[in-house]
Amino acid sequence: MNNSLLKQLLTEYNAKRNIAIDEAEERKAKLLEVNPKISEIDKELSKISIDTSRNIINAKPEEKTKLLADLKKKSNNLIKEKNFIIKELFKSTDYFEPNFECKMCKDTGFVQKNGKSEICSCLKQKIYDIAYNKSNMGNLEFENFGTFNIRLFSDKENKEKYKSDISPRENMNLLREKANNFIQNFDDPRRKKFNFFRWNWAWKNVFNKLYCK
Ligand SMILES: [Zn+2]
Repeated sequence: MNNSLLKQLLTEYNAKRNIAIDEAEERKAKLLEVNPKISEIDKELSKISIDTSRNIINAKPEEKTKLLADLKKKSNNLIKEKNFIIKELFKSTDYFEPNFECKMCKDTGFVQKNGKSEICSCLKQKIYDIAYNKSNMGNLEFENFGTFNIRLFSDKENKEKYKSDISPRENMNLLREKANNFIQNFDDPRRKKFNFFRWNWAWKNVFNKLYCK
């Protein structure tokens, strides 16, 4: 496998990971707006950790164990209180956690095994797919905007069949316009949220739902 492919995959992983983190932060910000108590608990949690670390530096050896035990007790109580509030709001306690596509490597592409960093099975699968041309990125030479033929899509509306008020052709035209727009703005940081991965996911979903029955 060449290095540029791995580099490209890792860039994709990094972007996908950032989205999951951004979305988790958005969820958190929204929830904090309606319940500022959670934010107060978070502040208190970091304050007691900092205070304890400071005190430990100046403490006698016999006092250190007690300080750590106190920190653990206080932290556990605060975490319990925080989880209680989150549950009260009908959210699961992992609501604030990023929703990574791969739970094992948290979308980093690597896992720790016996103290060593190893390529995660999800990244191995991606490399395999590309190596054996199984990914949908393998035929860009033949499958691209230049060879895109809109006439392959029906111009007949059929709400029951396509679950849409517009014809497949009209729908594909809209998608093509969005894809074009996305490519034109690819480097625009203000549009970083609407990135390739989300686009690719949406495209595949719409396409499969509508036309691959
Ligand atoms: Zn993974």
